[in-house]
Formats: sequence, C-alpha cells, structure tokens
Amino acid sequence: MPRTLKSSVLKSLDAVLCFGGGVAFDSIQFFNQYRPRPSFTPKWSDKPLLKSWEKTKPVLGWPRETDSLCPKCVVEARESILSGEEDYRILIDEKVGEIKAQIVERDGEVWMIKECPEHGKFEDLMAIDSKFLSWIEANFPGRDIQTHNDKDLHNHGSSTIKHGRGSVLTVDLTNRCNMMCDPCFMDANQVGFVHELAWDDIKEILDNSLRIKPRRQMSVQFSGGEPSISPHFFRAIKYARKIGYNSVQAATNGIEFAKSLDFARKAHEAGLRYAYLQFDGIGNDAHSHRHIGNLFDIKLRAINNIHEAGIDIILVITIVNDVNNDQVGPIIRFAMDNPKKISFIAFQPVSFTGRDEAITDERRHRQRYTLSHLAKDVKEQTGLTEPTHDWFPLSLMGAFADFADQAHGPGAAWGQVSCGCHPNCGIGTAMMIDKETKEAVPVPQFLNIPGLVKDMQKITDAARSTKFSNFMMGLALLKHYRAFKAPSRLTLLDLLKKFDKSFGLSGKDYGTESKERREDPWNFLFIAGMWFQDLFNYDFRRTEMCIIPYATQEGEISFCAYNTGHGWRNIIEHMHMNATVANWYKEHGRHEIFAGGKDVKLDDYEHALKINAKDASRVKDKGDKPQTALDEKMMQRKAAKEAAMVREYYEEVVLKKKKTNDLVELTAP
Ligand code: SF4
Repeated sequence: MPRTLKSSVLKSLDAVLCFGGGVAFDSIQFFNQYRPRPSFTPKWSDKPLLKSWEKTKPVLGWPRETDSLCPKCVVEARESILSGEEDYRILIDEKVGEIKAQIVERDGEVWMIKECPEHGKFEDLMAIDSKFLSWIEANFPGRDIQTHNDKDLHNHGSSTIKHGRGSVLTVDLTNRCNMMCDPCFMDANQVGFVHELAWDDIKEILDNSLRIKPRRQMSVQFSGGEPSISPHFFRAIKYARKIGYNSVQAATNGIEFAKSLDFARKAHEAGLRYAYLQFDGIGNDAHSHRHIGNLFDIKLRAINNIHEAGIDIILVITIVNDVNNDQVGPIIRFAMDNPKKISFIAFQPVSFTGRDEAITDERRHRQRYTLSHLAKDVKEQTGLTEPTHDWFPLSLMGAFADFADQAHGPGAAWGQVSCGCHPNCGIGTAMMIDKETKEAVPVPQFLNIPGLVKDMQKITDAARSTKFSNFMMGLALLKHYRAFKAPSRLTLLDLLKKFDKSFGLSGKDYGTESKERREDPWNFLFIAGMWFQDLFNYDFRRTEMCIIPYATQEGEISFCAYNTGHGWRNIIEHMHMNATVANWYKEHGRHEIFAGGKDVKLDDYEHALKINAKDASRVKDKGDKPQTALDEKMMQRKAAKEAAMVREYYEEVVLKKKKTNDLVELTAP
C-alpha cells in the first residue's frame, strides 16, 4: 500500500525509537544477565517455573528412532478388547502393538519407516521439505513443566500425557450428529450406539480438570458428534465459565447457528466465546463430500449469526491432498476479505483414522498432507509468507507464556495458555491486517521473532520484578521491530498495545467482551496447522506432550491417543454407552439428520460477508480415483463383481463347465 507523508514521518520516528530501544536493551541486558533470581512456584503449580536451560526436549532431527505402533496389531488388539476377549487394562500394563520407528531423510523429504515382525513394513511421509521441518524443530523452545497431581486422570499406559498444561480441553457432549460426513473422526451416527454425557458426568469431568497441575488457563472445547444438539449444551458452557475457564468454545458444523440467530444469542449469553466452525472451502462444491447440497450457504449464514450474536469465529479445515488443498488460498483470502469476522484459521491435515484405518497404500500416499505441504500451499496460493522464515512451531508460544507467567507473579491462580506441543504436531504464522484498508503483512516480516524470543527468554530467566521485566520486554520489542516493513498505518504504539492485550502484562483492562475486542482496528489473523496423527505416523513422543487432552469418564487422554492410536475413544464409549441407537430412538425419538445431498432449509439466507465469486463458483474435477473409504469400498465391490463375471464366463465358455447353481429339475416320485 502506498504510504502517505504522515505515515512516512511516523514510521521514521518509530525507526529512530527502535534503534534507541535496541541499544538500551543490549546495554542493560549486559548487567541483567548476572545473578538471575531463582524461579518461584506459582499457586497453579506445585513445581517451580522452569528456566530456559532447565527445559527438556525429545530427540529431534534425523535419523532418529522413536516409539510407534503397528497399524495392524493395534486394530486386532482393539477388536479383542471390544469383543470382551481382553481387558482394556492391557493398554495400561503392557506395550500393546508397540514397535520402533525410524525417522529418516530421503531425497530431501522426511519419512517414518517401521517394521512389524508379523505384519511387515510401513512407510509414510512426514515432510515434503526436510529444510522446513528442520527449521520448525530448531525453533522448539523445550517442554513445559511436567504434569503432577494427575495420577488418576493421566493413567493410560504409553499414551499417558506427561508434560505441560494443555491448551484446549475437549469434552464430547454426545456422539450423535445431525450430519453424515466421510471422513468423520468418531464415525458419528455409524457406530450403532449412543454415548452422551449426562449433566452429572459433564460437571464431574470439568471439576476434575481443575485438579491437575500445572493448572491450565486454557480453552474448554465442547465437541461431539454435534455438541449443539446435546440437551446440556448451554448449561455446560455456563458451568465452564463459572468455574474459571475464560475461553469456552464449541466445535460445530454450524447448522443450529445458521437456523436460528436466537440460538446463537443464547449460546453467547451462556458464555460461548468461540465457534470452532467446520469449514471445507469456498463454494458449495468444496463441501459436497459432506452430503448436503447447500452447505456453504449454511456456513455463511452461520458465520453471520454467530458474529452478530457476539461470538468469535475460528474456521477449521480438514485438508486432504489432491481433494481440497487448493482451497488453502481461497480460505485465507476469504478471512482477509472479512477481517472483522474471522480472526483465526485452523488447518488440520487429514488423519487416516476411523473408517480410513483400512485405507489402501495408494490412496494414503496420494492424499497424505503434511504441515510442510500447508506452508508451501499458503505461499503458492496467496503469495504471502516464506515457509522457513514466517512459520514456527506452535510451541514457540510457550516462550511468550513463560514470560507472562513470570510477570503475573506467584499469586496468579492460573498459568498463561501455553501450546507446548511437539514441533511435529503444530505450526503457526500470523498476519497483521488493517481492518479498514485490508492491507495484510505476515508478522514475522516486521518483527524478528527468533531474536525477540531469545531476548525474551533472557528477561524471563533473570526473573526480576514485574515492572522491570515489562520495561525490558518493551525495549526488546523496539529492538526487533522493523517499522518500514510493517503495514503502513501500524504504529509502534499499536504494536505495544497488541502485545500487552495478548499477555495481560500491564494489568490494563482491554475488555473481554467481543464488542470491545471488535473496536480494535487491527486484526491479528492467526493461521495454525495441527497435524493429528494416525496409525501410520504415530509417535509416542508427541502424545506424551499433547496439548489437546480429551476429558472423559476415564481421565484425560491425548486427542491422538483417543481418536487413533490404541483407540481409547472406542473403548471408553463402549464402556459408558447409554443405549443402542434403536433403543435410544425408541426412548428419545429420532433427531434430524441432514444427508443424501439434500439442502438444509433456512428461513433466511442473508449474510454480510464478502465472497470472491470466482472462488465460490469453482467446481473441482474429482477424477476417477477413490476419494473416501466409501469410494474404495464401492470400487472394491465393483471389481470383485466384474472378476466373478469374467471367471464365470471363462468357466462356461472356455472350460465348458456347467454352472453349479443351475436349477435342478425335480420330478415327482
Ligand atoms: S492432538 Fe495429537 S497432534 Fe495435536 S498436540 Fe496432541 S498429540 Fe500432537
């Protein structure tokens, strides 16, 4: 964007200030590095805060060896537990299905290779660019405090969570859903039984979660199935807010919100802060695999209602290579065109789990999408961000959280939200967007993130008073800010305010209500990638640091261990199922399910979103290769039928064999 004279003068002033700030920081830090104060133990932990040099790291780089699972042994073991042949506790006491895996570099890519003595060799891609994964791993700041006070909640054998405070506590309210997607993590509506939490279960699960140390200042995410069809949806939100969780989310397909603005308002009144909205792309065609004709129109109306009700929106996209990875750019453009409504995009590379565990090798290799694919697609499809400069592990947030924890002092009741996951799990970048002009610049292009983190760690490690640490932090920000590379209307003051607002350092009240948040002229659009594992790339070093624990009737379990791995979801839901689907329907009646390619009828389809017409009208050629587990099954059936017909013809015509199923004429005795 062209600069005005006024903005050029302001930028020059900022640049001079930044230079002075940098000199001041280096001079003071020269003395500040000596005799650091010992770490304190905050109220929310029974162990002291960690200095940067005390943080442990899993083995990273390659070649390396890790602990993984055999994709076949695990499925067999799970089946024998579900059939009652084996007790589920073997998963706690034994190393069921565990094998070693090698992570190696091959032709500039990174691969996981493992071999089961019984089922043979398995290979899967971990990154298309080893330099990218190297960069991400090199920026990993180290693990969070070890979990404690958690013996009865974290007890899942090799899948036990061992580090950190988590960032999103997921609670599945019900496995019922009002859609029939393929793929679906939990096989909603397909497993033959209903698992739905009663009010007492929800309350107990949330109360229990407060016992774990380090205590988490994190989001609670109600999920499912479709959580909005649980009868306890509003009450659960209200209760989570009441006991202290300040960020409550719902992972939703948006149908209930699209149908009724009143429903969205009730959710907001109950305390819902974020809708984690399932979103596949721009246009109805990009959503067609979910078997609803007008699903994109429904999403737009849902965004409209959710925003109007005062709830913030996170778009959540499952990305499958060759299926919808061409939607990465259009989705980011959509968010940039609507900066007042979208402030977070979460891309989730596909995890072949549930019905996809039996995926063919051909489809798995064709559809595999890694975090390195994501960084490449963002660059190629938007022209923004440089993979090995502007993307970082999500866990880099931990360094900011450590600083905030230090600044909040020993009396704080909760720790700062900290995404301390394994660097192979999640990555992120951010854009600073001017809400009025829509000018967008990746933050790492005007803020030297690695340099800032390094200096911030020095301030945290010195552990001086809050005032002095905040002062040093201000100087560090000046030192690493590049005024002329920032959006033209962004000033140094805007940047300092944004930072203070995110980490609550000065104690100034910026308001928690969406109205106040929305008055901010800058949208900090966060783009994240969380690569959930599956049996083909499973790594216990990742699950033990998981930041997305599922809170269940059997304790808190890593998302990946729950939905894939040993498959704790199947086991726990079986143990605690309410009824078979047939009996549930008899007692409660059927709930509405939208499927079969039909439209969801709304009273009103109006919305105030800007849509790129070209992106919305694109129809993708699906090709003739199978896209889903269902396609594969149908193709296999067709191939088997054709083979049988050919065999029959050959036997009849060439071998002159008589058909064995010919009718035999019976004569009366
Ligand atoms: S959910 Fe899976 S991918 Fe995400 S942090 Fe946990 S272990 Fe890692």
